Amino acid sequence: MVEDGFELRLAVMEWLAAQVAAHGPLERARLETFAYRGERLRLIDQHGIWAPRGFHCALTIRTRFTAPNEVAPYFDREGEDGLDYYKYERTDPNLATNRKLRACIETGLPLVWLRGVAKGVYLPDFPVYVVEDHPGSLEVAVEVRSWQSLPILGEAPPEFSSERRWGVALTRTRLHQRVFHERVLHAYQGSCSICRLRHRELLDAAHIIPDAESGGDAIVPNGLTLCKLHHAAYDSNLLGIAPDYRIRVREEILREEDGPMLLHGLKEVHGSKLAVVPRERRAKPDPDRLAQRFQRFLAGA
Ligand SMILES: [Zn+2]
Repeated sequence: MVEDGFELRLAVMEWLAAQVAAHGPLERARLETFAYRGERLRLIDQHGIWAPRGFHCALTIRTRFTAPNEVAPYFDREGEDGLDYYKYERTDPNLATNRKLRACIETGLPLVWLRGVAKGVYLPDFPVYVVEDHPGSLEVAVEVRSWQSLPILGEAPPEFSSERRWGVALTRTRLHQRVFHERVLHAYQGSCSICRLRHRELLDAAHIIPDAESGGDAIVPNGLTLCKLHHAAYDSNLLGIAPDYRIRVREEILREEDGPMLLHGLKEVHGSKLAVVPRERRAKPDPDRLAQRFQRFLAGA
C-alpha cells in the first residue's frame, strides 16, 4: 500500500507536470498509470473525491466535463474572495469521501484538481489546498496556488526550474486559458470555423468578447475556433462575423490585389457563413456577443 504524505503528493504533481508537458490534457486511462516506489496508484476514481485505500485525506478532486455552454463549475464557483468552491459528494457530510476532503484542512496536504476539458479528458490543476469547510452549502473552499508556492520546491531540482516544463511555468490564468482552448477546439471538432483548417498548431480559441471585458467569459459560446490567419483578421477587424454567422471582409481588402493568401484566405470568405459551428445548440457562438462584436467591425470598417 502506498503511504500518503507530502513526498508522495509532490511525486504525483511532478509526474502530472511531465505527463501534461508530453501529452497535453490527460485521458482517464493515463491517470491510472502513475506508480510510486514501484506501486501503482491511480489518480482518478468514479467518485469525484478520491482518497486511495489507507489515505486519510483526499488526493484528487475532479470536475467532470460539462455541457459546453455551461460555465465550468470552477469558474462559476470562483468566489469573490478568490477561493474556489468544491461541492461535497451528494448531501451527507459524513460520507467517507467528504470526511477525507475535510481532513485536508487539518493536515494542510496539497491536492490535485482534475478539470474535465472533454469527455474523459482532464487537465490537472495543482497544488490546491482545502482551506474552509462550508457544511451549510455542502462544499469546501479551495485555494489554488502556483507551483512555486510548494515549500520543498523552493530548492527545486533542475527539471522544476525549467521554463519549458509546462506545469512549472503554469499560472492559474494560463490554466484557465488552456481549459478554454481545449473546450473550444473540442466543440468545433478541431477545425477553423471559417476555413476548416484542422492543424492544431495553427488553431486558436478566439474570444468573441475579449476576456478583459464584461461578457468576455471563458465559456464556449464566447469562443470560436479560428486558425492563426482568421484569428488575427478577426481581432484586427479585417473581417467580422454577423450574428447569423455571415462573414464580412473589409471593403478595402476586397479591392486589394495581393496574391493567393489574400484571395483564398480573406477575399473568398466574404459573404459566406461560418463553415464549422458546434453541433450542440448550447455550444454555438452566442448571437448577442457576436452582434456586440460585429458592431465594432462595422464601426472600424
Ligand atoms: Zn481559418
